[in-house]
Amino acid sequence: MKHILFWVIFLAASAGILWNLRRLISYLQVGKKENRFDHIGERVKNVLVVAIGQSKLMREPIAGAIHAAIFWGFLVLLAAVIESVIEGLIPGGNLNWLGPVYSVLTISQDVFCVLVLTGVVWAFWRRYVTKVKRLQGDNEEKKDATLILALIGTIVTSLLITNAARFGAGEEYSWAVRPIGMLLHPLLENPSVAIPVFEAMWWLHILTILGFMNYLPYSKHLHVMTSIPNVYFGTLSTVNKLEKIDFEEEGLEKFGVSDIEDFTWKQLLDGMTCTHCGRCTSVCPANSTGKVLDPKQIIIQTHHRTMDKAPLMVGEKAPATLGEGAATNADLIESQNSDILSKTLIGDYIPTEALWQCTTCMACVQECPVMIEHVPAIVDLRRSLVMMQAEFPAEIQPAFNNIENNFTPWAFSASERADWTEGTGVKTMEEATEEERDNLDVLFWVGCAGSYDDRYKKVTKAFAELMDIAGVRFRILGTEEKCTGDPARRMGNEYLAQSLIQMNAETLNAYNVKKIVTSCPHCFNTLLNEYGDFGAKFEVVHHTAFIDNLLKEGRLKTLTPMQEKVTYHDSCYLGRYNNQYEAPRAMLENIPGLEIVEMDRNKSRGFCCGAGGGQMFMEETEGKRVNIERSEEALATGASVVATACPFCMTMMNDGVKSKDPEGHVVVRDVAEMVLEAVKGRGAEPVEA
Ligand code: SF4
Ligand code: SF4
Repeated sequence: MKHILFWVIFLAASAGILWNLRRLISYLQVGKKENRFDHIGERVKNVLVVAIGQSKLMREPIAGAIHAAIFWGFLVLLAAVIESVIEGLIPGGNLNWLGPVYSVLTISQDVFCVLVLTGVVWAFWRRYVTKVKRLQGDNEEKKDATLILALIGTIVTSLLITNAARFGAGEEYSWAVRPIGMLLHPLLENPSVAIPVFEAMWWLHILTILGFMNYLPYSKHLHVMTSIPNVYFGTLSTVNKLEKIDFEEEGLEKFGVSDIEDFTWKQLLDGMTCTHCGRCTSVCPANSTGKVLDPKQIIIQTHHRTMDKAPLMVGEKAPATLGEGAATNADLIESQNSDILSKTLIGDYIPTEALWQCTTCMACVQECPVMIEHVPAIVDLRRSLVMMQAEFPAEIQPAFNNIENNFTPWAFSASERADWTEGTGVKTMEEATEEERDNLDVLFWVGCAGSYDDRYKKVTKAFAELMDIAGVRFRILGTEEKCTGDPARRMGNEYLAQSLIQMNAETLNAYNVKKIVTSCPHCFNTLLNEYGDFGAKFEVVHHTAFIDNLLKEGRLKTLTPMQEKVTYHDSCYLGRYNNQYEAPRAMLENIPGLEIVEMDRNKSRGFCCGAGGGQMFMEETEGKRVNIERSEEALATGASVVATACPFCMTMMNDGVKSKDPEGHVVVRDVAEMVLEAVKGRGAEPVEA
């Protein structure tokens, strides 16, 4: 009788799970096609490292260990689930035939049951007693989390008691070794107690699991099912680059993303996979300075929109109950459906202003334990706002106009681009003979700030002088250089960005450029990682790695001591985007007398200066200014010099430090300026207060 009943329940539950899976997959198919089925080996490796190894979660040791205990526990407990199903389906069925492997399994199950239980208690504690901020959500979210934790607790507790009662109930297997069961045996030795306890707990265990699997697709914890697939299908790119829009594509009428059907299926899967852990939001510079932008909510709201709209798009009816004033249920459904269809993702689900507060710093993407890609989604949404709806902050219009007319976001003439070279002896490619071009070591890509910004022109000159001292054969493009397209691209104006990229790519290819050095991490990232998509491939080095190499080769010698305390601020586009943390620090370590101190948030956890993603050209009106937050952190180290390696960081940190230290005790300097001073002697470079 037990087995017949179980067969019925099991088949019904399995049908429910399969129906839900089919339903969810049909929602994903609403999104655009994207090939994430290649490179199986690399994808499996990602699953082993990120999903099974929990590598990202381990960045937070305590919380990571707790989550890992629950996750690994579930993997081990999967064998117990399989055994319970076999026991239910087949009279006398079990896994005892595995022999010694069964002994290992049963020991691990007891150990992991305890670890999972500890994890559940700890998770309750963090959510309801210590009230960890990033775990707090709305009431519905709290209820859902409580239910899920309670279900997990029930699953492991019932398994422990079932196993403890096996011996007394005469259901124990010869190869089983159960340390916790042994401890509890004495309480459950009497068959008159053990048998009913065993049966009750066995049913509780298996019914909770089947119920849990059927509830998950409706829960906010759908990630339990989708995390591993999402990691498997995650990006394989080791660099952070934006996808190119092919404007030539036949039939392409919409650019960017205005609703869920414009996202790819993988971006919709990201929404289904969010664990609501809040790690992304906790590191977001915009959110932590009081702005509306909340990367977790962008992902969650995309999921909400998917669950609202996709059922209509795949022909399912929205659920409804007959309400007052509705003539029929069909009327109500009709009105609910048109309400959903009349809404928009941007505006009704995701606040438009939030999209313009992102600095594209990539902190959210890096922290996400399930490899969700927030930044490409934000830029896709911006693309639609800019190219389809012409809806963007008014202050970026002048930047777009300047880029279009002057090839730089600032209001300077293109003909003045190389004016900084006056008196330096720096020459352009155009002025070089064929032989000189062939014998060049490197092309110096100066960038817009390096060409026009008064403060950063000093860095440009310092770096050029260092190259001269080291005997590097270099040239610049001069007036042939144009903005790389990075600001326009991040601000969503892909069309404008591509026109610049194509012009630059043609120039670089015409000169057959093989190696580029630049002092701007934004130019560096774009030239290195994105120009390849436009047929321009070359080696690209940031000036920090370039100078560090000259120092290592002995072509530059830093002999003059500098009695300063310095803290280095990581640029997001050099650090998180391209994993370059060591070269700037190594340069500073080369300077005798310098004391180097780190800010609390450094390297991969460095806090953005607030300028990336086009923020440099937008007003920051809400909350605290990001550069003030970062400058306070820099000043808290007691450093006399804040070192930077990026023109945007230089501007933002300069403004921030000046506002907090108007007397100018602390200065902001580029690492190249510091090395030049150490090479030439104090006073060689002007110190900008
Ligand atoms: S990229 Fe940075 S600013 Fe943008 S949402 Fe992510 S953490 Fe926030
Ligand atoms: S997007 Fe990733 S980091 Fe952010 S809440 Fe979801 S799972 Fe956590």
